[in-house]
Amino acid sequence: MTRMYYDTDVSPQAILERKVAVLGFGSQGHAHALNLKDSGIQVRVGLRPGSPSWDRAEAQGLTVGTIPDVVQWADVVMVLLPDTVQPRVYTEAIEPHLREGQTLMFAHGFNIHYGTIRPPAFVDVSMVAPKAPGHRVRELFTQGAGTPALLAVHQDASGQARDVALAYAWGIGCTRAGVLETTFKEETETDLFGEQTVLCGGVTALIKAAFETLVEAGYQPELAYFETLHELKLIVDLLYRGGLTYMRYSVSDTAEYGDYKVGPRIIDEHVRQTMREVLQAIQDGSFAREWIEENAKGRPWFNQKRREEARHPIEAVGRRLRRMMPFLDPVEVDPERWEI
Ligand code: NAD
Ligand code: MG
Repeated sequence: MTRMYYDTDVSPQAILERKVAVLGFGSQGHAHALNLKDSGIQVRVGLRPGSPSWDRAEAQGLTVGTIPDVVQWADVVMVLLPDTVQPRVYTEAIEPHLREGQTLMFAHGFNIHYGTIRPPAFVDVSMVAPKAPGHRVRELFTQGAGTPALLAVHQDASGQARDVALAYAWGIGCTRAGVLETTFKEETETDLFGEQTVLCGGVTALIKAAFETLVEAGYQPELAYFETLHELKLIVDLLYRGGLTYMRYSVSDTAEYGDYKVGPRIIDEHVRQTMREVLQAIQDGSFAREWIEENAKGRPWFNQKRREEARHPIEAVGRRLRRMMPFLDPVEVDPERWEI
């Protein structure tokens, strides 16, 4: 049975009486640190000396220290560094300072599940993984709302691991929306599968394939952009509010007929078979191994691919059109520096 937790299931005391170190001040880090502080919890942010985030965190009223310093100070250590950076920082700056009674927390199970971080038996190890980009975790919290999250306990040395993790989820506003209990294995495998097949990989490949098909056939690229990328947001908003049926209720009968007729031809048995293979590579660890090796080599394939993808014609067309629609708050990422 699926176990869900809401605000009324939580004893906030478990986190209110603990000191929390949030390591990293990126997408998730800034949201966790600020939400916890607003919930009345003692927080310190752990960063590298000279980190560009140091001044930004202090400007928002947070206390900042080096990672070893805040790990020593804290009862609960939430690791919100990039997953590929975590193993090295763990070995150098976290592990030597851990002591009995502390809780080590993550927002994604990758390093624990694939064994690239192996915490000592005397600490609790748990996860609160918001199912939303960090900026939404902060934004919704300030509006009095929250984002759903997954909770898991990997190691319960103190006997209080679940209570502390649940209270932490309360502190960042997730029990307002619902917290679902899972395992590190289930969270890691489904998260990777979802981002690869639908959310990131599937959807970008589908958009590019449809855009290229239209442009190759002589249609105007601007029109192809509106049709295959821009309008997707409007359709997804309908799915988000009322599921597949509400989207189909809102579009024309012709669109609905085309959906039933053509959808299964596009996402056919071949695609489903590929999805099973992709899931297999996640489950047997070969995807993780490949990504860890790519990082160890300095990301040659990844960096080249990132630049190449940013030069796709749909990106140039889209940039021009979005500049004419300031109301959608357009942003541009520099593909070389990977910054806004
Ligand atoms: P991020 O890339 O936005 O931020 C990481 C932060 O870590 C940086 O801002 C910096 O403060 C620090 N950092 C970067 N390199 C470092 C280094 N070499 N040494 C020390 N500090 C360094 O990361 P993120 O996307 O917030 O991801 C953090 C964790 O949250 C990951 O485990 C990720 O899987 C998980 N998560 C992220 C999201 C999301 O919305 N991005 C959603 C759910 C879970
Ligand atoms: Mg995810």
